[in-house]
Amino acid sequence: MQITGLLYKGFWSALDWIYPPECAACGEPGYRVCPECLQKIQFTEHTTKRKSDRSFCDNQNCGSVERVFLAEYEGVIRECIHALKYDHNLSLGEFFSPWMGDLVKAMNWVTDLVVPVPLSDERVRLRGYNQSELLARPLALHLGVRYLPICVSRIRNTPSQVGLSASERRTNVAGAFRAIPELVKGKRILLVDDVSTTGATLAACSDAVLSAGAGMVYCITLAGFANRNLISSEVKHQV
Ligand SMILES: [Zn+2]
Repeated sequence: MQITGLLYKGFWSALDWIYPPECAACGEPGYRVCPECLQKIQFTEHTTKRKSDRSFCDNQNCGSVERVFLAEYEGVIRECIHALKYDHNLSLGEFFSPWMGDLVKAMNWVTDLVVPVPLSDERVRLRGYNQSELLARPLALHLGVRYLPICVSRIRNTPSQVGLSASERRTNVAGAFRAIPELVKGKRILLVDDVSTTGATLAACSDAVLSAGAGMVYCITLAGFANRNLISSEVKHQV
């Protein structure tokens, strides 16, 4: 790991020392996520994901997008994402990034740029931060790949996806992103988000990046759903 990576890791370790953490899932003091809760996380089998996730990009760009996620979106990991997103438990991004980095390596993905899925300016103002950046920056450091959040922006604020069906989500985020061609042209982009359920946001963001000339898009999220067959077939008819 480069010196910046060590400094970044050191920063969060120092914060843990000054403000001892509590397990994001059960509250056990002294851990960001305690060993017992970590054991409950259902990490995904990346090889099977790789095959099934092809169905996610059922559009003109199919074949230029691959997607994977670290764990099933339930239980402990769901609690952790909630804590990262809504309870300002910011260090969880750094905590999970090495696992995501190892997954990227296991997938044999070679990438040029790491890009977090952007939030709208309005949502960043309300929340104070973009949780995807908290995962993407340390992930980039872990992989030794350039971190470049500015190359993709959200050009339209979209209502929250919570409670929407797969088709509604697609419509909700379609055309919401724009990428800068000078920065992404010919590049292999690693898009990072906290969670992906129907894949609508990642698909819209991937489309923007590919339209701007990127050569390939790889998407990684902390969590997702392994049993996505029903959702995938639903999505197919919406593109
Ligand atoms: Zn715990």
